[in-house]
Amino acid sequence: MDNEAPELTASDLERLAAKVVALESQLAKLQTLASRIESNSYGKCEACSTEIEMEILAADPEALFCGQHSSQGQNLI
Ligand SMILES: [Zn+2]
Repeated sequence: MDNEAPELTASDLERLAAKVVALESQLAKLQTLASRIESNSYGKCEACSTEIEMEILAADPEALFCGQHSSQGQNLI
């Protein structure tokens, strides 16, 4: 009986489902990052292709936009 699987309640399943959704969106972000690194566009603004300011990348390594376009980027995501 020690190997019995723990009973999952509906709220447990809900929490797990929310976690899966969060992980999936994180994975999508990481895949985007990986392809940006591969194509040498990491750290460049999606809107104007200039280098994203270091302080923005330090605060958010996944930043896709420079300081000028960052508010625009948040709306896209
Ligand atoms: Zn920009």
